[in-house]
Amino acid sequence: MWNALGTDVDLLIIGGGINGAGIARDAARRGLSVALVEMKDLAYGTSSRSSKLVHGGLRYLEQLEFSLVFESVSERRILLDIAPHLVNPLGFLFPVFDSSRRGMREVSVGMWLYEGLSLFRSPKRHRKLKPAEVKVEEPALRTDNVRGASLFYDCSTDDARLTLESAIDAAKHGATISTWSKAVSFLKDEGGRVIGAVVKDAFSGDLKEVNARCVVNATGPWTDRTIAMSHEVSSPLLRPTKGVHIVLDRAKVPVMNAVTCFHPVDRRVLFAIPWGDRTYLGTTDTDYEGDPGDVRATLEDVDYLLAASNYHFPDHQVSRDDVICTWAGLRPLIAPDGGDDVSESKVSREHHIQIGQDGLVTIAGGKLTTYRRMSAEVVDTVVNMLRLQAALPETLSESRTDIHPLPGAVGWPPDDDHSRVAREVLSAAGDNNLLAESALHLANNYGMLAIQIGRTIHRRPELGKVMIPGRFEVWAQLEWAIEEEFAATVTDFMIQRTQLFYRDFDQGLGIVDEVARRMGEMLGWDEAARTESIERYRQDVALSREWAAQA
Ligand code: FAD
Repeated sequence: MWNALGTDVDLLIIGGGINGAGIARDAARRGLSVALVEMKDLAYGTSSRSSKLVHGGLRYLEQLEFSLVFESVSERRILLDIAPHLVNPLGFLFPVFDSSRRGMREVSVGMWLYEGLSLFRSPKRHRKLKPAEVKVEEPALRTDNVRGASLFYDCSTDDARLTLESAIDAAKHGATISTWSKAVSFLKDEGGRVIGAVVKDAFSGDLKEVNARCVVNATGPWTDRTIAMSHEVSSPLLRPTKGVHIVLDRAKVPVMNAVTCFHPVDRRVLFAIPWGDRTYLGTTDTDYEGDPGDVRATLEDVDYLLAASNYHFPDHQVSRDDVICTWAGLRPLIAPDGGDDVSESKVSREHHIQIGQDGLVTIAGGKLTTYRRMSAEVVDTVVNMLRLQAALPETLSESRTDIHPLPGAVGWPPDDDHSRVAREVLSAAGDNNLLAESALHLANNYGMLAIQIGRTIHRRPELGKVMIPGRFEVWAQLEWAIEEEFAATVTDFMIQRTQLFYRDFDQGLGIVDEVARRMGEMLGWDEAARTESIERYRQDVALSREWAAQA
């Protein structure tokens, strides 16, 4: 955190999204001294606002982006191995109708190609469904004129927790992770080379100079703003596009698989994705030029997604009142050569590593799915740059993040049996101290580390109580978040650590006072700090609900 933030490191990373955290993990594991500064919480930006899929991206096949698909499906396999508790196989149903652009035969060829690119190591083989089977597999789906469907497998994840665990692992290997710490300007030598940054603590306003032999800009949609701290940006590196999701009660839109839906108006592809007790629908894809921190759903976005849901699930009509929550994120996409003539959905998802004239290394573009590989490439670049300054040991040359499990995956059962881990959690906590659903929830989110949370509950059974009646999140998660996961504000806990912001009908507003009281006791907040943290969270909720006021 801020006090531990070193003033002299090999590598300073600006940005604590999936890329910044992945780079910190890789670099720290190779032996570099690393500091990461994040202006808000880890995964505050795009990395908690994605579609939460670890996927090859079937639709990129249509755009002939074979190398992106190959890279993505290879990374999907690796992430299934190093984060099995967080990356879970998910069925995707791709229905084909009389009116579909592609017939069953073409879709089938696409599926074989998709699985071929993964060297047939998909989580499961795809299946071709006849119309009657589609009805059984996905009873809520509109099936008039359906010719069949393909049921194939990709993965779902918790994007924020993937980021968190990467950062936690980086810290375990010596990196300093400082959240709520914004890089406000660069330090430069006489030759104009970036040699560090001035960092500001969001709470105290204190400034600190961090000197670094190399600085990486991993600020996602803020990339061009960060480059602009060094010099004027004549042509932006990025063309960000906005993507919105809406969250509905699963009982209202009861999907069994992630269902591919073509929007009835513009035929864009969307997904309705099962998410435990909820279903989310997304995403939109529209150009965005404002401040990345202000991105939010509009009424138009919400109505667009509701229209898709109501068309594809006709017996399960939903209205604006059914929307529990929205989230909006910005894809940090590389600006195409064709400029604005290229449509939003066609802008490439490839990534780009740039070394500026000032020595600033910038990583931009790419996907959550490919973060590990992109991070390794960035660290390779950094190591090569550092070698120009001094001799470095050979051991620094190789990334091994493909074989080292994330912290929660150490000791995870090879057969991926989540319920077995849940039973161990329950037995660590003492059967009467924790609901079975809570134990499973802990196993799914914290992996093997959930057993440690269970032991805490055994010592202090009151921490096994659910935070919200009818749900399964427990108070022990709050202490864990503060002590082990860098949570520093109510928002950090409600959004990135627990997802209560998205999942609770009231977005967790009913418990914020108690969350703030407990956090305040642990973090030594005074009344003003407590009020500010509550207020900050209320504003986050208000932003996510602003669309409703446009009605
Ligand atoms: P971010 O997560 O945005 O991180 C950048 C961080 O930098 C932010 O936390 C920000 O606070 C911080 N920052 C900015 N300026 C400063 C500063 N001056 N000082 C300190 N910190 C600073 N990919 C997939 O693989 N699967 C998907 O299903 C998927 N779905 C998506 C859906 C949507 C709607 C969107 C928008 C993207 C999706 N993506 C998906 C892409 C993926 O989410 C992004 O590529 C990835 O999260 C980008 O991570 P990042 O670390 O580069 O950026």
